[in-house]
Amino acid sequence: MFHDLPLAERLVLARRGTSFFAQQLGELSDDELAGPTLLDGWTRKHVIAHVAYNAAALCRLLDWAASGTEIPMYASVQQRNDEISAGATLSAGALRNLFDHTVARLDEKWRHLADSAWDAEVVTVQGRIVPAAETAWMRAREVWIHAVDLAGTGRFTDLPAVVLTSVLSDIVKAWRTNELGSQLVLDVSGTPPIAIKPGHTAASVVRGNLASIVRWSAGRGAVGVTSPEASPVPPRWL
Ligand code: ZN
Repeated sequence: MFHDLPLAERLVLARRGTSFFAQQLGELSDDELAGPTLLDGWTRKHVIAHVAYNAAALCRLLDWAASGTEIPMYASVQQRNDEISAGATLSAGALRNLFDHTVARLDEKWRHLADSAWDAEVVTVQGRIVPAAETAWMRAREVWIHAVDLAGTGRFTDLPAVVLTSVLSDIVKAWRTNELGSQLVLDVSGTPPIAIKPGHTAASVVRGNLASIVRWSAGRGAVGVTSPEASPVPPRWL
């Protein structure tokens, strides 16, 4: 699991994800940025704006950790959404610059955070209290998945296995917390099946390789999965 790795390796995985996103973005022409993504209602510009503003929001958490003065990720969910909508109206060049700039800022914050501040508690947009070190996972998850969302050449199979298993673990945890998908059993090839509600009898088994199961569970389409239903719909994750 991602969280079992030393901090330095977790940061490397986040940075590699950023490079993967940057590479996917680099393959797209300015005109193509207006095109659709794997996310309903979001163009590539929305995804880029969101990923850039996410880096800025994580910078705020790292400032909080460094200073001890509470600085939330976003003032409100409304502010977060408005920022993405406004960002999506920027020109392609401005968005590319925004992405580069916010990525560089986040990297600088990580590089300069004092050793003692990594354990400082901050609060995520979902209200979770986490150590500042959790920003590595929060960022890694965003960049790796949204790189595929750009609907370029990136696929879930491009994600490192440890990222895939850790995303799946987050999704399963979220479903269990919200009592969703209790009839589901995820059968990932090569690993023991995961019953969302252990002991539930009327099981609906969704089978596939790790990348396909993560893709489906994350709400990015039923490609390469088999199930009793023709097009199974996963419960909401976020
Ligand atoms: Zn996101």
